[in-house]
Amino acid sequence: MRWSRYFIPTLKEDPAEAEVISHKLLLRAGMIRKLTSGIYTYLPTGWKALQKISSIVRQEMNRFDGIEMIMPAVQPGDLWMESGRWEAYGKELLRFKDRHDRDYCIGPTHEEVITDLIRREVKSYRQLPLNLYQIQTKFRDEIRPRFGLMRGREFIMKDAYSFDMDDAGASKSYESMRQAYISIFKKLGLRFRAVEADSGAIGGSFSHEFMVLADTGEDTIATCTGCDFAANLEKAEVKCQGQDCAECSMPFEKVKTLGLHTVEQVAGFLNVPAQKIVKTLLYNADGKSVAALVRGDRELNEIKLKNILNVQTLELASRAEVEKWSGAKVGFAGPVELVVDRIVADLELEFDTDWITGANQDDFHLKHVDLRRDVNISGYFDLRTITSLDPCPKCAGEIYLTKGIEVGHIFKLGTKYSQSMKAVYLDENGKEELIIMGCYGIGVSRILASCIEQNHDQNGIIFTPAIAPFEAVVIALNYKDQEVREHSEAVYDQLRSIGVDVLLDDRDERPGFKFKDNDLIGSPIQVVIGGKGLKNRIYEVKIRHSGERIQVPIEEFSSRFMAIRNGVLDHFGLSAKN
Ligand code: ATP
Ligand code: MG
Repeated sequence: MRWSRYFIPTLKEDPAEAEVISHKLLLRAGMIRKLTSGIYTYLPTGWKALQKISSIVRQEMNRFDGIEMIMPAVQPGDLWMESGRWEAYGKELLRFKDRHDRDYCIGPTHEEVITDLIRREVKSYRQLPLNLYQIQTKFRDEIRPRFGLMRGREFIMKDAYSFDMDDAGASKSYESMRQAYISIFKKLGLRFRAVEADSGAIGGSFSHEFMVLADTGEDTIATCTGCDFAANLEKAEVKCQGQDCAECSMPFEKVKTLGLHTVEQVAGFLNVPAQKIVKTLLYNADGKSVAALVRGDRELNEIKLKNILNVQTLELASRAEVEKWSGAKVGFAGPVELVVDRIVADLELEFDTDWITGANQDDFHLKHVDLRRDVNISGYFDLRTITSLDPCPKCAGEIYLTKGIEVGHIFKLGTKYSQSMKAVYLDENGKEELIIMGCYGIGVSRILASCIEQNHDQNGIIFTPAIAPFEAVVIALNYKDQEVREHSEAVYDQLRSIGVDVLLDDRDERPGFKFKDNDLIGSPIQVVIGGKGLKNRIYEVKIRHSGERIQVPIEEFSSRFMAIRNGVLDHFGLSAKN
């Protein structure tokens, strides 16, 4: 490709609308343009990178027995009513009516459509297992589309669905997809972790998220320095250590804490550490009143609480509800004599018997509360969020927290859809059984953004060779000069002939301008050819990720280029030996 005849509309300035680096750089490098909120046109280099991502996804999916197909983007509302998600999915589902007043939506995901297909086509156990996938544009009317391709409304997803006869088969399909995903993210050259994720009402550890590690990630991951434990913060189990202790020797007593309603204020006033205080958090859980207790210095994990209570909705109680349930202003609720439907406590609270709690009376707290003695607690559970001070739940090693971007999610669905939509098969004995399903998503367009979040510097993008629109660029410094032109064309041809996807920067622009533009668009290797170098019989090769510039004698160019290329592949974990 010759830049002069191609279409890469780079921008000098940071676009005002972009908050995160990948969004800025995708716009500046001329890879995308916004059409309207959360909806983008992929320009040629953006599309080229997406194609490279898709082809690695496709190659690995096929290798692990996935079968590609494509389903319609527009889906009939009827199917969603059948599965129960027409109501449940909420406003992210873009709904509309056709001229006959029939309900439709634009697919945010395809469980309904594929289950409908399978229940019609699969009759016998002989047709199973199956794993069908597609790479397709999805639409979700996200509440806050932002960060460019990171959270678009229209975006590209690879979604796969597996169909098995039994649980063992479904577990095998799941494991096979987990392997496929590991392979995909390795081949893309990204640093990532597969983490145990929350699987909501379905339970079990049958959900993994694939996270590209980047400081700017929205998710926090807890990983262990000692073993392979890695989990989403929402899910990471907290192992609680402590010793049983005797009943509190003193009865609880009221203390006046005028106007002091935060943990810090009360701890300061009573001159005790925050660890001695029990926080009482009141929730409305599917219409019932619930009090959840955690230590004053801890953070309650609402996802864990929701799973433990096994409810659909969990909302922090309103001011009015707090006053009604506790009989006191916000900040003075406590578990003693509290009239709510259920009181649950964090595991840690079992290991002390002398606590400070709210008194359910304005401006008062209680001292010497023994939760076992004074409160009717319905259970002690793992309710809090892990911290770097907690031991690894698997090996007791050290936990550290890193940021990540979710690029893939694999999920064992079980019979959720086959049950509601009646997808069955006949087993060997002619008995009707429900098909067991799994679903597996990859955010193809989000991968492009996360690659940039992970790999960039102040000058622009640093693409991994697997994703780069062009793996190398030949920068002809004065293309009008005959000698420069001839050498540049020769190198361009040579690189193409050995299968390097190469761009020739033949534009009539100043060197400084071209260097800037090429750093911005992020090709892993730049070959700079100019009059001065030619006088000394050298080309200069610049490695984008390290900034290293290597003077290569023209005669040695072929072999030196291969060595440099291997070094770059190695840096991204992409060389053959990896
Ligand atoms: P998130 O929690 O980020 O909203 P999700 O749990 O809704 O993601 P899934 O339904 O599992 O996502 O979709 C599969 C994959 O599609 C995700 O792992 C992510 O990479 C990608 N994805 C989801 N929503 C978007 C979006 N709005 N823009 C771009 N990619 C997305
Ligand atoms: Mg979402």
